[in-house]
Amino acid sequence: MRWAIVSDIHANLEALEAVLADLQRERPEALVCLGDFVGYGASPNECIARLRPGLAAAVAGNHDFAAVGRARLGSFSGDAATAARWTGTQLTPEHRDYLLSLPLTVRWRGTLLVHASPALPESWAYVLSPLDAEEELEAFDEALGFIGHSHYPGAFIRDGAGVIHYTREAAIAIQPGCRYLVNVPSVGQPRDGDARAGYLIVDEEARALRQVRVLYDVGGAMRRIRDAGLPRFLSERLMAGE
Ligand code: ZN
Repeated sequence: MRWAIVSDIHANLEALEAVLADLQRERPEALVCLGDFVGYGASPNECIARLRPGLAAAVAGNHDFAAVGRARLGSFSGDAATAARWTGTQLTPEHRDYLLSLPLTVRWRGTLLVHASPALPESWAYVLSPLDAEEELEAFDEALGFIGHSHYPGAFIRDGAGVIHYTREAAIAIQPGCRYLVNVPSVGQPRDGDARAGYLIVDEEARALRQVRVLYDVGGAMRRIRDAGLPRFLSERLMAGE
């Protein structure tokens, strides 16, 4: 089976539409989401309405829980907290209930799906180094774990000898005896210097993972953020992809 993973949409409808259009071309058999449907961007209801019907599985992100009052804003930057409060005022009751209903982890086709940290999902810890990854890989048994949260795509690979390697290659071959913690590209707020929207394809038969990046109407998403009265920085960072 071939399936796709999206993550960190962040209420960016323009980016989501471009990704969904590209998925029409790729035709994966299923789509799953690693959370952060909302936060930062100006189209929270539109993004949930558009994405939810097509999802086979989804987990909650910290911005999803923050917008509905289930996560504290203490660790948020000023702009992120402003956007979370604004999102909370915008969400329809149905979408609010949906975000509240999302689990922190899901086992899907023999892999682990979690927004941030497999070991402590609700700590929302970042996995940025091989040392972080080593601890996280201890916390689950599956050969493959998928995370979002950092908006910085890449993969930590533990080989048969227990050594952790890091790669930012877009294409990864799944090797027997290795375990993988894969950071999926962000749809709606990339931070790796590439402003394009991203997602990941998992090809079980080919034993391969592939990041896909897609051009989208960045200007449209920026305008919507400005028109909503959200902090200017949240608009500008989309152009830089940072
Ligand atoms: Zn995020």
